[in-house]
Amino acid sequence: MGRAFVYVILGGGVAAGYAALEFTRRGVPPGELCIISEEPVAPYERPALSKGFLLPESPARLPSFHTCVGANEERLTPKWYKEHGIELVLGTRVKSVDVRRKKLLTATGETISYKILLIATGARALKLEEFGLNGSEAENVCYLRDLADANGLVNAMQSCAGGNAVVIGGGYIGMECAASLAINKINVTMVFPEVHCMARLFTPKIASYYEEYYQSKGVKFIKGTVLSSFEFDSNGKVTAVNLRDGSRLPADLVVVGIGIRPNTSLFEGQLTLDKGGIKVNGKLQTSIDSVYAVGDVAAFPVKLFGETRRLEHVDSARKSAKHAVAAIMEPEKSGEFDYLPFFYSRVFGLSWQFYGDNVGEAVHFGDFSGSTFGAYWISKGHLIGSFLEGGTKEEYEALATATRLKPLVEDLIELEQQGLNFALTVSKKPQPAPPIEVSRSTSGLVILEKPAYAWHATVGVVLAASIAGLAYWYGRRRRRW
Ligand code: FAD
Repeated sequence: MGRAFVYVILGGGVAAGYAALEFTRRGVPPGELCIISEEPVAPYERPALSKGFLLPESPARLPSFHTCVGANEERLTPKWYKEHGIELVLGTRVKSVDVRRKKLLTATGETISYKILLIATGARALKLEEFGLNGSEAENVCYLRDLADANGLVNAMQSCAGGNAVVIGGGYIGMECAASLAINKINVTMVFPEVHCMARLFTPKIASYYEEYYQSKGVKFIKGTVLSSFEFDSNGKVTAVNLRDGSRLPADLVVVGIGIRPNTSLFEGQLTLDKGGIKVNGKLQTSIDSVYAVGDVAAFPVKLFGETRRLEHVDSARKSAKHAVAAIMEPEKSGEFDYLPFFYSRVFGLSWQFYGDNVGEAVHFGDFSGSTFGAYWISKGHLIGSFLEGGTKEEYEALATATRLKPLVEDLIELEQQGLNFALTVSKKPQPAPPIEVSRSTSGLVILEKPAYAWHATVGVVLAASIAGLAYWYGRRRRRW
């Protein structure tokens, strides 16, 4: 025996919340949609966990950051789901899925069947044990992926006031946690194997700005080495961290942020996988027609770069969810997902945004001794990526628009001199009017046609501007998240 729904969302994170909102906007009748989530709470804005949630004063707490407040949309509390007839099956892990028979089996033994499945299982934090180390079970070793982890980190921080924390990993989880720990007056040392922080995105020049800023807040960096072992007391708490370079750091708290792995295991052997995730087409549809995948777990075609990518960022989770629901509910009206990769971070009083791709040659601009600076990435003569710290709404919008347009860059020195003005100018420039094509219909009438790419370009630019607008709003209004 079990329940049956028309639509089932598997996973209850960011993408699930935005998908639910879109389902209701498109008129899903009560009783047809169900969300199954391992987490005991309704979907929430996960980025809040490393920002406002960790603040020492007036920290963000649910229900204030349920989705979809992060994009200035409705806040979906459990009451909202009830009012809309959406079944929330919380605290329930799905342990197997049969995509041919369209059935899920939960850890509580219930079978739930569906007509359409939307996979939004996100990702999990990589554990030290996966690198041959142990210690993850110690109460003062923290990871940060979900609300339970965030509560654990807050408790651990509170019991080590004025003590020493070691942050393992120099990516955005490590950077945001290190900033929050320092704000909580804990002595922080960051340890990572790369030559600088945020190595997957930052250039050495950008990284050195942030590292110096962190150092001014008391954070120390040990680079080019990794954790080799922990020392424990008789209660199993970590007391020190040993590094491969021979150094030993006393520790009251350890935060581990060494990457994530998409939650694909339920679908291995059933769906086509790619880039570590579940491969989908431009409609976010997997290799089985009745199954869609969105958010961190989905590897989708990024039209702008002509490549399949899997992104691990909140904006992509929100927008892919929205697009998938449109494709499910109104397949004939929805086009291909056309996404400009975008992500951001906020630490201390700093705030940056990135658009596009960071391959090719980096050209820096702005005042690296001040508060506004950035970089463009140029590949095959075109601007394909841009980064800006401390921008205004207009500047971020211009950056997004310019990046989507992929303008030709002839002179890198001139680009460096123009700096932000380049994006501001390109984004304001009227796009060349598309040539009018003349074709003859079967009836012999002459038809004047605008080529479709003009529409695509216009829609793309409008989308890019609105992404930047929302991002800026999110940054300013929801600073604590
Ligand atoms: P998730 O939000 O991870 O949701 C997945 C859900 O699926 C979870 O509820 C999980 O419990 C559930 N699930 C998985 N497997 C099962 C199963 N078998 N049965 C039932 N339920 C299951 N991005 C940015 O761009 N900027 C930021 O500043 C930023 N900050 C972040 C800070 C933190 C602390 C974290 C963890 C992430 C941050 N991100 C940020 C990334 C962003 O939050 C993710 O990209 C986004 O959450 C992905 O959404 P999702 O719905 O795909 O997955």
